[in-house]
Amino acid sequence: WNYNIPEHTVDRARSGYESFPDGNKNYVIAQFFPRMCVYNDVEGWQNYQFWGSGEFALPFGDYDVEITVPADHLLDGTGNLVNRKDVYSKEEYKRWEQATKSYDKPVIIRTQAEAENIEKGHSTKTKTWKLQAENVRDFAFTSSRKYIMDAQAVKFPKGDVMAISIYPKEGNPLWEEYSTKAVVQTLESYSRMTFDYPYPKAISVHGKNQGMEYPMICWNYGRPNEDGSYSDRTKFGMISVIIHEVGHNFFPMIVNSDERQWGWMDEGINTFVQYVAEQDFGENYPEAIAPNAKYPSRRGAPSAITGYMGGNQDFIAPIMSNPENVYQLGNNAYGKPATALNILRETVMGRELFDYSFKTYAQRWMFKHPTPEDFFRTMEDASAIDLDWYWRGWFYTTENVDMGVEEVKSYYLTDKPTQAGKALMERYGVDPAGRDLVYVVEEDGEDYDPAMKSKSSLENAPNLQEFLMDNFSAAERAKLKAPKHFYAIKFNKPGGIPMPIIVEYSYADGTKEKVTYPVQVWRMNDAEVTKVLATDKELTGVLLDPDLETADVDVSNNSWPKQAQESEFDSFKEGTED
Ligand SMILES: [Zn+2]
Repeated sequence: WNYNIPEHTVDRARSGYESFPDGNKNYVIAQFFPRMCVYNDVEGWQNYQFWGSGEFALPFGDYDVEITVPADHLLDGTGNLVNRKDVYSKEEYKRWEQATKSYDKPVIIRTQAEAENIEKGHSTKTKTWKLQAENVRDFAFTSSRKYIMDAQAVKFPKGDVMAISIYPKEGNPLWEEYSTKAVVQTLESYSRMTFDYPYPKAISVHGKNQGMEYPMICWNYGRPNEDGSYSDRTKFGMISVIIHEVGHNFFPMIVNSDERQWGWMDEGINTFVQYVAEQDFGENYPEAIAPNAKYPSRRGAPSAITGYMGGNQDFIAPIMSNPENVYQLGNNAYGKPATALNILRETVMGRELFDYSFKTYAQRWMFKHPTPEDFFRTMEDASAIDLDWYWRGWFYTTENVDMGVEEVKSYYLTDKPTQAGKALMERYGVDPAGRDLVYVVEEDGEDYDPAMKSKSSLENAPNLQEFLMDNFSAAERAKLKAPKHFYAIKFNKPGGIPMPIIVEYSYADGTKEKVTYPVQVWRMNDAEVTKVLATDKELTGVLLDPDLETADVDVSNNSWPKQAQESEFDSFKEGTED
């Protein structure tokens, strides 16, 4: 067969070449040969055609490839380069040997000065590069006489892995500074979250406007201006896309889900681990992210998804949709599932249980073909937590999270029969005569006496004090609490997704207390739930989701007393992402 190589910077494609004014071309070549469909015992043959969005469903195989290119090209691709001595210069080979022992910084294999010299020539001779790969689901390679290359070794228990970057001078100074750092961080963070990276190398290639993954090799954007300057947007975009595309080695290159059908299983899960790796990168290279205190991740933080989830329902599909059939694929298959997993980890399950279960999923399904149910079941099976409600709300519906504080009522105790108390006794046929009872009075209600507010509960209900004296020893009484205030806080839930109620109570003495009510509080009443707070301190404020952990799409109902509303203009802006 043959394959026409597209100019990917002109006709947007997942591989091809980029032309330069002097006639040179950088080639990033992939998806250029017929590949086998997946056959598995769940779906049979996956022979759904490629329509442009859902990329891969591929089985594993071994590759033995020889590629002949002009002799002055630098080439690399999926697999071990088995004739390195034949294709590298003596100096390059020596530097490569040094790189295999350099664990703290990259070693430059071909320098910018050398590449600038080479790109001026035009060799009429050829060289053949030999690559061998085992247990990979695809093969891709890159080739150009313009390339600079650096490499660094990363230690793993079963053997070192080489982190490699390949880029033209147009990528510098950005690429020399950050690419291999980002590759190393990806291998380390992803391996910690899943399994040790099982391939011998991971290459990040600079392709203009590209962000595309293949086994052991990927193409990434991030081009500085012609004078070498670059914005933060370019820098963080480049580091993030490298982490994302190298991360795809884990999902779906190894945990081999079916992207023809389920885009989120690799894009969403990968974007979640990308978020973890980006935050690790920020911790390891504070000078690279300054003046930010944390790495400015574009996706993963709960507050970054509320515009989409709270937006126009006509343009939202469930995560559990085919990637060809959704509006806003970026939010649907990347942002929302990544955020759902981040919230599941930080707020619902906790890191220890989540990480153990997530790792169990990755290890059970490496080099196999998992379905969404395999993911959902393993997360529940490994953690012993019923998460059906979470998968249903976040993955199978287009509902969103919106909880609010509806009202706060304050109560006092009294030994004087109240209207409500008397009515209750009458209803149950109880004769109040001779009964010594304690009643509850709502502040500002019909039986309320303002004097109650300054007294303790036992002063307001002396019969309760007598009861304690008669029935408890002094030592026992010393251990009892006698709260002065009783509050009933009613929470409501306009949003369709149930979530734990995380609430911060503020008191008159200036102290604050954070309380989490588990999601199970919504089991019997999905619309509203009331929690009682018994305390010695006067409650002055209630704030729901104080750290914005739940992706609550409307925070205007999150506080008591009600906070000033944001302007109509602000809420309009929030709802118009596309
Ligand atoms: Zn991706």
